[in-house]
Amino acid sequence: MVLRALAPAIAPRQSARGESVLDGRATPFLPMPSSAATASPSLCCQAELRAVLRNERLQVAACRACGTLWGEHSKRPDGRPWDESYVPPEFAKVLRQRREIQAGTIAAQLQRSSVPTPILDYGTGQGVLLAELRRRGLDAYGCDLDLNARDSVAPRDRLLQVHEPWGMPREQAPSGAFRTLVMLDVLEHHHDPVAFLQAQRFEHVLLKLPNATGPAARLARFAAGRGRTGLLEQLFLVGENFPHRWLATRKGVRAIAKAAGYEVVREACVTEVGTELPTRMRGAGAGLLTRCALWGAGLGLGLVGPWWSDASVVLLRRRAQ
Ligand SMILES: [Zn+2]
Repeated sequence: MVLRALAPAIAPRQSARGESVLDGRATPFLPMPSSAATASPSLCCQAELRAVLRNERLQVAACRACGTLWGEHSKRPDGRPWDESYVPPEFAKVLRQRREIQAGTIAAQLQRSSVPTPILDYGTGQGVLLAELRRRGLDAYGCDLDLNARDSVAPRDRLLQVHEPWGMPREQAPSGAFRTLVMLDVLEHHHDPVAFLQAQRFEHVLLKLPNATGPAARLARFAAGRGRTGLLEQLFLVGENFPHRWLATRKGVRAIAKAAGYEVVREACVTEVGTELPTRMRGAGAGLLTRCALWGAGLGLGLVGPWWSDASVVLLRRRAQ
């Protein structure tokens, strides 16, 4: 049950990540091993993959070297952008509050790290981070496929249009080319993060990613090992239009960064959920006892969140060529 709440917590924030075209391709991104022993190059370590889950909806394999989980979905997106219109208002409200807290943390990290500006917030959605960056006086812009997110707080003069899925805006900032890229809950939707990062020319990249080692992910792995695959399917957002394609370990993120020409300069957990957990449960029973238990679980998750959570924030720096 907990997982049903945590999975939407790591869903994309808004419409940006336009897998609608890329993911519509018929070719699977990864050759799945036909047995646990079959060698297959992965996108992280060039190591063997070990099958973790294989059913008609989802196949997941783990890299033997770093533990990163690579998923392949059988459902193809229907092309509609992701939006929050289907979530209850109360859910949207607490999710927004969590994003605001995270935006403060992430903006502070960017400031402390003195990343070069201008900053581009890719898939800015409602512009929560963009607004926070501007509040701190940082030269930042946001871009998205859909610039009319519901309840947007983005400064309109700081929004740039993305014209095709995974494309970059055609404009630069008046102050010059963008030097730092920020992607919150975006890159895990790309089937080939190495290729995407390799193609960019930013000096720094900050990523917020769901990870394979948080409490929800560990519980999901444990359950999947015992034949209960629903939790892991939730984490991969099976059936949604913009599913997750991979969940990385810290070692996996470092391997992906290295393969793409970057090095990791900072990494930290970020709290994904707290006492708002009962409200984050989509379609859960609303009995008082259940809500109390979830509140307690949320309290615990919120307390350990800075050290152990289902999301990480990683800052990458491009290696000198
Ligand atoms: Zn690996």
